[in-house]
Amino acid sequence: MDTIYMDNNATSRVADEVIEEMLPYFGNLYGNPSSMHSFGGQVGKKINQARQRVATLLGCMPEDIIFTSCGTESDNTAIRGALAMARGKRKIITSRVEHPAVLGMCRELANHGYSVVEIGVDKAGRLDLDELKQTVDEDTAIVSIMYANNETGVIFPIDEVCEIVKAKGVIFHTDAVQAVGKIPLNLAKSNIDLLSLSGHKLHAPKGVGVLYIRKGTRLSPYLLGGHQESGKRAGTENVPGIIALGKACELAGQNIEQENTRVKKLRDKLEKTILASCPDSFVNGDIENRLPNTANISFEFIEGEAILLMLNQFGICASSGSACTSGSLEPSHVLRAMGVPFTAAHGSLRLSLSRYNTEEEVDFVAEKLPPVVNRLRELSPFVTS
Ligand code: PLP
Repeated sequence: MDTIYMDNNATSRVADEVIEEMLPYFGNLYGNPSSMHSFGGQVGKKINQARQRVATLLGCMPEDIIFTSCGTESDNTAIRGALAMARGKRKIITSRVEHPAVLGMCRELANHGYSVVEIGVDKAGRLDLDELKQTVDEDTAIVSIMYANNETGVIFPIDEVCEIVKAKGVIFHTDAVQAVGKIPLNLAKSNIDLLSLSGHKLHAPKGVGVLYIRKGTRLSPYLLGGHQESGKRAGTENVPGIIALGKACELAGQNIEQENTRVKKLRDKLEKTILASCPDSFVNGDIENRLPNTANISFEFIEGEAILLMLNQFGICASSGSACTSGSLEPSHVLRAMGVPFTAAHGSLRLSLSRYNTEEEVDFVAEKLPPVVNRLRELSPFVTS
């Protein structure tokens, strides 16, 4: 049975070109990039190339980038690092729909004397900008608001958010783990201070991430030790991972607009067909401002987990809510923040596509899903007629 992979917001297939680029650095080219000899130096040069490739995709300077081990490390470093330099400021502002890499860190800090404000969203998952405006003040140490949501794909108006935050002179961090590689970004035209991304969401391997630190941003390092990454992140580099991420960024940048359009067409077809054939189903999230690859659909009266198990029998990989929170029976915190009714939040399914999905796969999923939903409804104690 073939695998039909529609869980790309959880992780993505490593591109063949990326594997090819990284393989020599598991083999003969094993030097340490910090070494003085040329054997290590050639690896150092390749890391510089990767840094340049990431910078090109983001529209920033290569020296503004540090490599980390994952998106979570980048998020944690941004928040803790900014607080360490915040000279007595005790307020942190974030949103109710952040990934746990941000929300979990902020809630932990709330246990240590910080005052944490979580800005709300409306029914469509749109950020409450008025609440943000009223909340940012001189006591705010950092604002961390995500670029695009991992569960619904909703894209926040980051330029507007940034304007509000920077007007008060506060450091602004954005978790762009789901946005980078899926939509164009240009940091040269923005005032974002700190931005996180993660390799495995854009066809690079797991175990590598990036934190962009705008020149002049005061940030205390999270990992202390050697002088790697200009002293901003100690630890010998994950060389193959970094080289892979550089290549993945180059590939993403080459075709971002065309791929966007193609993937969006597939997503829209999938969504439309499913909604037309499944009564009592609806899309979660702002239809107009979403990542082109993400569909989050609620099916009333049934469990998302049950849908996943039945789809799995056809080789279809999807997700109910965030992969990081699955395993818990609580409905997704994102859907709850949006006020999605309990019965529908439990029955949510996330299908997230990539450049590797085909129209045949979309047709296959659109054919298999409605009978699964019907069957589960027949078994559901919540359906009375
Ligand atoms: N932020 C967002 C929005 C994510 O979707 C994820 C992963 O799902 C992360 C952060 C964490 O990234 P990583 O898995 O690289 O730690």
